[in-house]
Amino acid sequence: MSMIVQKFGGTSLESAEKIHRAARRAIRAKLGGHRVVLVVSAMGKSTDQLLTLASAVCHDPPKRELDVLLTTGEQVSIALVAMAIHSAGHEAISLTATQLGLVTDSSHMRARIQRISRERIDRELEEGRIVIVAGFQGTDPGGEITTLGRGASDTTAAALAAVLGATVCEIYTDVDGVYTSDPRIVPQATKIDELAYDVMLEMAATGAGVMHSRAIEFGKKFHVPIHVRSSLTDAKGTMIMAETSGMEAISVQGVTLKEDLAVISLNAVPNHRGVAARIFAEIARNHVLVDDIVQNIYDHGKLANLGFSTNASDAAEAKTVCEKIATELGIGSVEVDEGVCKISAVGIGMRTHSGIASTMFEALSKADINIENISTSEIVISCIVRQDDGPEALRRLHTAFGLDAKSNGGEGA
Ligand code: ADP
Ligand code: ASP
Ligand code: MG
Repeated sequence: MSMIVQKFGGTSLESAEKIHRAARRAIRAKLGGHRVVLVVSAMGKSTDQLLTLASAVCHDPPKRELDVLLTTGEQVSIALVAMAIHSAGHEAISLTATQLGLVTDSSHMRARIQRISRERIDRELEEGRIVIVAGFQGTDPGGEITTLGRGASDTTAAALAAVLGATVCEIYTDVDGVYTSDPRIVPQATKIDELAYDVMLEMAATGAGVMHSRAIEFGKKFHVPIHVRSSLTDAKGTMIMAETSGMEAISVQGVTLKEDLAVISLNAVPNHRGVAARIFAEIARNHVLVDDIVQNIYDHGKLANLGFSTNASDAAEAKTVCEKIATELGIGSVEVDEGVCKISAVGIGMRTHSGIASTMFEALSKADINIENISTSEIVISCIVRQDDGPEALRRLHTAFGLDAKSNGGEGA
C-alpha cells in the first residue's frame, strides 16, 4: 500500500470548516487505498499570537520557554484534526513529536532533526488509522521540547515522507503552487508547474516563504517528490522534483525577496591569516546565521573591511559577538545597518545563459534603485537594496526577466 504525507499550513486550518476540509482530504486519500500521515501547523496566525503574548510578558523570553509555548499551537491542531476525522466516522490518532519519537539537537528555536522513529507510526497505520503529527516540533535527547524554526512544519512533513518512503509529500497551502514570485507582492506572478529541487531550494533560501528550505533538502536527498498545492481546490499545483532536461531552457524561473536583513560591517580588520576564521567561528558558536559575506582589502593589503548580512532579529547578537572579539583582534569598529533586504533571481538556466546579471542591474538602475552589495552562485544572483525599495525592485526584476503573466492570461515566459 503506498504512503502519502499531507501537510496543512496554518491558513488551511484557521477555522472549524477548514479543519473539516483537511480531514475530508485525508479520508479521501485513505479511501483511495493509501496509508496517510498528516502533518499540521498551528491554526491561522496562532504562532504569531503566542510570540506577541510572550513578549508582552517578558522582554527577552528564554528560548527554552518559547519552545514550550510555541509547540502548543501545533498540539491544538493535531487534536482538532483527529476529532474531525473521528466525527466523519474514520479512525485517527494525533501524535506530538515526543509521542512519535522525533529527535532533534538541542538548539532551541532552530533545532535540526537527528532521527525519527517509525515504530509508533507504523503501528498506528497497521491498525488502519490516519496518523496526525504535530509539525515544527521535536524533542532533544534529554527530553527537552524544541522547535525547528519558523515555517518548519514543511520540514517535518518532508522528513517524515523520507523516513516512511512516501510516494509524495503534499504541501497544502493558501496558494495553488509555487509562483514565479510572491503573488502578494507581484500580482503578475504565474504558477510554475515543475521545479527542480535545486531551484526551489535557492528560492526558499532567498525568501520564497511558500516552502521551508530544509524541507526541500530532505526531498532532494531522499528522492521524495514534493507537491505544493491549494488546500481549497483539487487543481494540480507545483511538482518539485529532480531536474529534467527541459528545465534549462528558461534562464530565470523565479525572483525572490528576503526582507528584514541587517548588514554587520567590521571596519579596519587586520588582514592576517586566520582572522576571518576566528571571527566566523565565534559567530557560528553563537548560532548566528550568516547570509552573504563580502571582504575588501585596502591600505596595500594591510587592512580589510569585512561585512556580512544576517537576519535583522540576529543583528544585536551578531554585533555583541563581533564587538567582543574586536578588541582582541585589533578591529577598528563594528557597525550595523538595519533596514536592508535582498532580491534574487534564480534559475538552472543561468548556468548556460549569459547576460542575466546585466539585465538585473539595468532593471534596478532604471528604477533608480541603488545596489549595496552583489553576490552570485551557480544558479542565483542577489543584490542587497534598501528595505523600502524591495517590493518595487522585485516587480521590476519580474518584468525584466519576462516572467509577467501575459495579458491574455497565458503562463508567462
Ligand atoms: P502555510 O501557512 O500554508 O505554510 P505560508 O504562508 O508559509 O503558508 O506560505 C504561503 C505563502 O507564501 C503565500 O500566501 C505567498 O504569499 C507566499 N509566497 C512567497 N513566495 C511565494 C512564491 N514564489 N510562490 C507562492 N507563494 C509565495
Ligand atoms: N506554526 C509554525 C510557524 O508559524 C510552523 C509552521 O507553520 O510551519 O512558523
Ligand atoms: Mg509555511
